[in-house]
Amino acid sequence: MKPVLGNSLAGKNIRYLLCDTWGKTEPELEGGEWVQSPIQCLDRAVETKPNIIVVRFWQMPIREREALVDLCTTLKWNSYTRKIPVLALLHAKHRGLIEDLQHADVDFARFFSERSLNSGRMIEIIGSLGAKDRVERQLKMLCPYLHYDAIDAKCEMILCGAYKDRMVLGGKWLHKMCETGEHLHCEYYLKPRVKS
Ligand code: SF4
Repeated sequence: MKPVLGNSLAGKNIRYLLCDTWGKTEPELEGGEWVQSPIQCLDRAVETKPNIIVVRFWQMPIREREALVDLCTTLKWNSYTRKIPVLALLHAKHRGLIEDLQHADVDFARFFSERSLNSGRMIEIIGSLGAKDRVERQLKMLCPYLHYDAIDAKCEMILCGAYKDRMVLGGKWLHKMCETGEHLHCEYYLKPRVKS
C-alpha cells in the first residue's frame, strides 16, 4: 500500500503547482504557482519539481475533463514527475471520473465545490490530506452501479445500472444513498435487475 503522502506534507514549507483551467484562482498564490493549461502544467512540473501537483476539475465539457485526466496520466508516467503526488480537486462526486483517476494512478481526490480558490484554502487542503482522500478510498464510497450517459458535450445523465439503466438518479437519493457508503443498503444494490 502506498504511504499517506498527505501527512508527510503537512507543516512543511509546501511548494505546489495548481492547474486550474477554469480561472477561478487568486492570481497571487503564496507557496504555489497557478497554470491554466495541461501543457503549462507539465512544463512547470518538470522544471520546478513541486511537492504536490493539484489538478482542478469543475463542471466542464467532457473533452476538457478527459484532457485533464490525460494530464494526470502523463504526470504519473513521466520519469521526471511520477514521484510527485497528484491531488484531483473535484466539484462533484463522479464515479466514472474517479475510476479514470485511479487508472491514471492519481494519489488523492478531494471534493471542493467553492468557486474561488486562494492560498489559504490550498494550504489547508494540502495540509489535511490523509488516507480518507486516497482515490481508492473515495471510489469505495460510491455505488458501483452508478452509470453516466452523455446528453451533450457538457451534460451527463446519471443512471442506475442495477435497475437496467432505466432509473435516472438525482437529488437527495443520489447524494445520500448512491454517493455514500449507504449504497450498501440500497434495495437495488442488494437485488440488482441488470440488463440481460
Ligand atoms: S439506486 Fe441503489 S443500486 Fe442504483 S446506483 Fe443508487 S445506490 Fe446504487
